[in-house]
Amino acid sequence: MYTGLLTDAKLFDALIAIDQDLAATAQAGGCRRCPGRLHHGDYPRKPRGGPATLPAAYERRTSFCCARCRKRVTPASVRFLGRRVYLGAVVLLACVLRQGPTPWRVARLRELLGVSADTLAHWHRWWRDAFVRTAFWKAARGRFAPPVDDADLPRAVLARFGGEPLTQIIALLRFLSPLTTTSAGTLGEARP
Ligand SMILES: [Zn+2]
Repeated sequence: MYTGLLTDAKLFDALIAIDQDLAATAQAGGCRRCPGRLHHGDYPRKPRGGPATLPAAYERRTSFCCARCRKRVTPASVRFLGRRVYLGAVVLLACVLRQGPTPWRVARLRELLGVSADTLAHWHRWWRDAFVRTAFWKAARGRFAPPVDDADLPRAVLARFGGEPLTQIIALLRFLSPLTTTSAGTLGEARP
């Protein structure tokens, strides 16, 4: 039931709007080191795995640079999960589709998203090994009762968000967005 989302313009437009809010809040907060103002210093991106025609906003990861001391502030994002070339929604949904009672075959995901078996395996390991050890998850997992089964991530946590699939996936990306800020730093080496 999550399949259609990967080509749903509504999802990709909604994520842009959320990222604009997150970026505006970060920019309004100003530099953390001095009273300087923050200017855009975005990173170029060539994201993979989304619909054929992605809005131009996906070609840039918003980031700011202090006009005075040059310190960077990179706001949280629901579009990108760390420095991976694949979109956050794709990393999430590809893993979710491999789980559950009728898991998708790797070949089918490769056809739809262009994701190799190695990349999929890498993402699954990330959820199981790296994600569960982040300070973020250690603090956040206590919000769920009964506890989320770490062995069944990310599907197990997605299921905790209510509503239709579109609402669920947006809520989960928003929930995970603190992981994508500079200060969290946990996704820095997370490729592809
Ligand atoms: Zn500054």
